Amino acid sequence: MREIKEEMSIRKEIQRRIWIALEEARKSDVATAKVGAVLWSSSGVEICAHNFSFPSYDPRFPFLKELEYTTHAEASCILRALARGYDFRIGEWEILVVSPRKDGSLRDSRPCPICMRLIRAVGIKRVWYFQDGILVMEETQRKSPPSPLFRQKRIWT
Ligand SMILES: [Zn+2]
Repeated sequence: MREIKEEMSIRKEIQRRIWIALEEARKSDVATAKVGAVLWSSSGVEICAHNFSFPSYDPRFPFLKELEYTTHAEASCILRALARGYDFRIGEWEILVVSPRKDGSLRDSRPCPICMRLIRAVGIKRVWYFQDGILVMEETQRKSPPSPLFRQKRIWT
């Protein structure tokens, strides 16, 4: 019983974060794909950001240059957290990425290789994203297949 309750509260929390990320994605100025991300820690810190159409450069992560004209939502979240002085090695950090289409369906939102590299480099433990309308969770420090959580084809109609 306790396990079921825990699972339900995890699901509720994830659902809440999906909404936060969707709200964030709406603010994006990138017409082709609006993306929102939420980054959180086991100690309760929560930081969100969206993608935007100008680059961010950080000398600690020179590979971000490869993105050229944009800053991805995940990178924006991480850089924002670092600027606020958070250390991803303290506590467990997770990030969720969503990209809604105009019709309310969800694009596949697995972070691109550059963002994945950044996520692994800073030590974020888990990545949540949509794949074929299914929310999946991927452990970044292990070579295990992504676990499907639940289906959410459409967020509004
Ligand atoms: Zn990316």
